[in-house]
Amino acid sequence: MDGPIGLYIHIPFCASKCPYCDFYSLTGQTPEVMDGYTDALIRSLGEWSARLEGVLADTLYFGGGTPSLLGSDRLARIMEAARRRFGLENAEITLEANPGDELYEVFSAFSAAGGNRVSLGMQSADESQLAFLGRRHRPQDVSKAVESARSAGIGNISLDLMLGLPGQTVESIVSAVSEAVRLDVRHISAYMLKIEDGTPFYSRRDSLSLPDDDRVAELYLAACQTMEMFGYKQYEISNYAKPGFESRHNLKYWKLDPYLGIGAAAHSFLDGKRFYYPHDVQGFIDGVQPLPERQGENNKASSIEEAGEQEYMMLRLRLAEGLNNEEFSKRFGHPIPSEVYERAGQLPQQLLTADPAGIRLNRFGFLLSNTVISHLIG
Ligand code: SF4
Repeated sequence: MDGPIGLYIHIPFCASKCPYCDFYSLTGQTPEVMDGYTDALIRSLGEWSARLEGVLADTLYFGGGTPSLLGSDRLARIMEAARRRFGLENAEITLEANPGDELYEVFSAFSAAGGNRVSLGMQSADESQLAFLGRRHRPQDVSKAVESARSAGIGNISLDLMLGLPGQTVESIVSAVSEAVRLDVRHISAYMLKIEDGTPFYSRRDSLSLPDDDRVAELYLAACQTMEMFGYKQYEISNYAKPGFESRHNLKYWKLDPYLGIGAAAHSFLDGKRFYYPHDVQGFIDGVQPLPERQGENNKASSIEEAGEQEYMMLRLRLAEGLNNEEFSKRFGHPIPSEVYERAGQLPQQLLTADPAGIRLNRFGFLLSNTVISHLIG
């Protein structure tokens, strides 16, 4: 590995399970399980640092689940171990948390241990939409959570919003974005609600009254325009930031840079290989090792090199900066394949720009990203 990697730590504990969520997280865990899990994370950090022989990290991301549920002491212990093993000099260190929880104490400990970014699951500014999503917080809890982060010395705050909810109107999404603007956060993520197989929403998907594609497109464009108007630049399909506040950690995923994920259900990409820990808290505590990820069965690539190029293109095209010819050549030893340019030429110009510098989707291309990207990579 040439440079520092990203570190991801998965905390699979939640106070309750939201009916749309397919992330690996469990409810009702005892303090003993959380202690055992914390010890296992610290042990794994040591094992990985020995295996990677001096590799450093410049981002650390606590995702979940609800990482703030671990509490101050466990978090501080993990952060101390991560710093000792992976340096974390000038690192971006993020903690996910949910509004409505008591956060000041945990944010203070996080900040004292070097944490400098929080990501809050706001989702909506509308009480009935939050109730639909099964969220435990109320709209007014978001500003309290933002205040707690600021009082703890953390100014780099991101809010998650959700698009495509039943009854969501342009006015309601504009009002959610306006609330985020009023709170003067640095970063906003706006994800489309997806109905994932195996979730309670999936089993009652026909009765959810979700908006149709045209309405979702209208909501997405309204959200984009409002954020842009207030200085949040779209740098990825679902992510917007004030200049300089793009998520350094998440950029590693989209740029196919190396990262190590530790904890049950955490995924990694190191030395060109993908692997993951099983969805099993007890197994992780007992020392289970990660498993290799299988290549997608539908991948039409004819070689490992081609599969690597396809994955790179797929991820890069999610970014507003898109696929850059110079960087592509540096990485793969040849420019973006001419077939990709040919396919780009077959698509309407309103969706993307293709020029000698590279290929970039625009806002309308992002709206149809699955179709556009599949067409481009063939
Ligand atoms: S709080 Fe987050 S991780 Fe936990 S169930 Fe809800 S959406 Fe999933």
